[in-house]
Amino acid sequence: MKYISILGATGSIGSQTLDVIREQKDEFSLIGISANTNFDKIVDIINEFMPKYICITDKITYNKVKEYCKIKNKKLEIFYGMEGLNIISTLKEIDTVVTSIVGMIGLIPTLNAIKAGKNIALANKETLVVGGNLIKEAALKHNINILPVDSEHSAIFQCIQGNKKDYINKILLTASGGPFRGKKTEELVNVSCEEALKHPKWNMGKKISIDSSTLMNKGLEVIEAHWLFDIDYKDIEVVIHPQSIIHSMVEYIDGSVIAQLGSTDMRLPIQYALNYPKRTTRLVEPLNFYNIGNLTFEKPDLNTFKCLKLAFEAGITGGIMPAILNSANEASVNLFLKNKIKFLQIGDIVEDCLNKFPNINNFTVEDILIMDKNIKEYIYKMYNT
Ligand code: MN
Repeated sequence: MKYISILGATGSIGSQTLDVIREQKDEFSLIGISANTNFDKIVDIINEFMPKYICITDKITYNKVKEYCKIKNKKLEIFYGMEGLNIISTLKEIDTVVTSIVGMIGLIPTLNAIKAGKNIALANKETLVVGGNLIKEAALKHNINILPVDSEHSAIFQCIQGNKKDYINKILLTASGGPFRGKKTEELVNVSCEEALKHPKWNMGKKISIDSSTLMNKGLEVIEAHWLFDIDYKDIEVVIHPQSIIHSMVEYIDGSVIAQLGSTDMRLPIQYALNYPKRTTRLVEPLNFYNIGNLTFEKPDLNTFKCLKLAFEAGITGGIMPAILNSANEASVNLFLKNKIKFLQIGDIVEDCLNKFPNINNFTVEDILIMDKNIKEYIYKMYNT
């Protein structure tokens, strides 16, 4: 039996993790969850899974859930905010934390979970982007596994099983290209939030959908792959593959390429991460190759989608630059979702911040938090008017 906490249980990945837990009731037990504002889903989870501990990061929702549990006489402990996230991720009763919370808010609870000896099923890519070295160091020291949930990284992880790291020549990270694939800068000047949210292949949360439309998501994933698999940036290549059937590939020194293929359904990588190294009964329909017909591949357009280029540059420069990239992106995406800035400004603002804010080579968690606050203040002051 695995005992699990989910950070971000009501989001897209969180809900699909609950599907996997529901299907494998005899193997997985849900002990703790965190959620933000989705009261109805929180109540559903309490009633169905009866977790013992819950953290709500939004104050109003926290009070509502407390009231609900009192009236319905639910016996569970309810925590609030960052302190609560740290409690949920380090509970004595658990062995695995699924980090499906969105954004760099996941960094500290993930670090604390590792220090408490919990294995991490990592869906929160921002955590590795901002604090990859800190996470890696802690994971090595405490001898815990970081199992990727991101579909591309799950694919790479599956492709490297049984092979020596020295045999890897490069990683081929696939990308669908998002809703604006093939478009040029001029055509993207006035695209709306609704258009950017319409991902052609994956049904995901808002932040990651916008990141996919700018290709920042792929940029963050390049940095994530660098840390997860200890691969040089020069050995990571992004390949646009609009059908999203191949979830990523690994090229070996002899020229052989191993790919992982599957339906575009996140329950597959979640299931692999939670059951690793076991494989278990299927939740997701296998591919029908007669229906798929063709698989195609393209080079990414780094001039139009400069976020991907900026992410590579920030990763190569290293230090706190990837964290600057991430903070600037989080604030810009937030403003775009509120219609405060235009689509192309997301990349412009990120570029501006990378030029404006100084790099720190040996940074601490505190440095990241201070930088994040400064960048977000700077951006909101300029554009949130
Ligand atoms: Mn992904």
